[in-house]
Amino acid sequence: MSQPSQFATVMIVDDSAVQNNHAATLCRQLGIDVVGQAKDGQHALELLAALATLPSLLIIDLEMPVMDGISLIQKLADQHQSGAILIVSSREAALLSSVKTMIKAYGLPLVDAIAKPLNIDTLTASFARYATSKAYAPSQQPKTIIHVTEIVAAITDQQFIAYFQPKIRLSNGMIQGVEALVRWKHPEKGMIFPNDFIPQAEEHGLIHDITLQMLDMSLIWLKYWQSHGLNLTVSINLSAGALADLSLAEQIGNRVAAAGIAPKQIVLEITETAVMADVALSLTTLARLRLNGFGLSIDDYGTGFSSMQQLSRIPFTELKIDRSFVDGASDSLQLENMVSIAIDTAKKLGLSSVAEGVETAADWQLLKRLGCEVAQGYLAAKPMPGEALIEWIKHNSKRVREI
Ligand code: C2E
Ligand code: CA
Ligand code: CA
Repeated sequence: MSQPSQFATVMIVDDSAVQNNHAATLCRQLGIDVVGQAKDGQHALELLAALATLPSLLIIDLEMPVMDGISLIQKLADQHQSGAILIVSSREAALLSSVKTMIKAYGLPLVDAIAKPLNIDTLTASFARYATSKAYAPSQQPKTIIHVTEIVAAITDQQFIAYFQPKIRLSNGMIQGVEALVRWKHPEKGMIFPNDFIPQAEEHGLIHDITLQMLDMSLIWLKYWQSHGLNLTVSINLSAGALADLSLAEQIGNRVAAAGIAPKQIVLEITETAVMADVALSLTTLARLRLNGFGLSIDDYGTGFSSMQQLSRIPFTELKIDRSFVDGASDSLQLENMVSIAIDTAKKLGLSSVAEGVETAADWQLLKRLGCEVAQGYLAAKPMPGEALIEWIKHNSKRVREI
């Protein structure tokens, strides 16, 4: 008997009875209760409708008569509810990879897409990766109910604090800068992570204030580190809607100038999707920021669909390869290719390349081999309060240099 998995129940959707039963047997061996076996997408929807609670896992084949796996996923996305999805298929890796991207784009929880035939080892490995992944991370699942008034109060009472995660130069293991990540020290609810309140703050027009507070805190820490002989950059995350605010560039510029910090020490991270939402307005803000000397980073690169030509029109200085491509790249040729293409894209566009979410030494070494310039991730350091950074450097420089 293998380790019990994190899933309590599963439904298997596969038109081949042999494959379907094989998956069911493996799941039972892992202690997962099989609550349904469907022969195609249509059948699965009927079985799901009859269940009182959704299965925590759906194992779905792609090629099926009547309703195939793609249509089923689209229907599940329409219903805004689904257990975690595991794709099993005998089709080519490139197709599996685009189906993975599609599932993520629908916002559905994706375990993996794996090649048939299923076996217990690949299944447990996929479950284990999912258990530690961002999709499953507790910070992704709002556990605390937040009211808008609480966010307003938190801005006034300055309950938001900046944590900083080191960005390490792969060539020499030296810290190059940090990314500022917001944390909410709620007086009653404890520490709250950004995914649990940023979307709401954006929706209610409160993100602007949070961004400026993050900038102010970052400037204070930058000066402190500078006084200790550390010349770092700080990266600040900008929300999608932020670029449409034409006063933003000026406000950032004024604050940075008032603090006596050089604009080149501040990098603003923006996702490609945010830029493409309104290219004219975004470019106005981005061009002004760049003109004034700020660094501009493409965040979560690879999750959007912009072409190199589109990217070349925006005055970016850095490209951050999304964690979903970096994590496990040393184990997957498909991911390695994606990362390698991203690094080449950065080089061709004259941008510095940063890999985010590096958790293993194997991924770190691969990135170094592929010519990636900077790495960020739990392997080097988790985000930490500003006061912990100097101690961290003191105690970890040697370790990080030797990865
Ligand atoms: P992001 O910009 O992609 O930031 C990276 C996230 O990945 C951070 O999560 C970081 O803690 C986490 N991370 C870093 N290394 C690793 C790793 O090796 N493994 C894993 N599993 N995770 C890693 P965090 O701090 O929870 O932030 C989540 C997202 O919230 C950020 O994603 C960003 O989009 C947003 N965010 C954070 N701070 C701010 C902010 O001040 N303003 C805005 N607008 N958004 C923010
Ligand atoms: Ca970021
Ligand atoms: Ca990211």
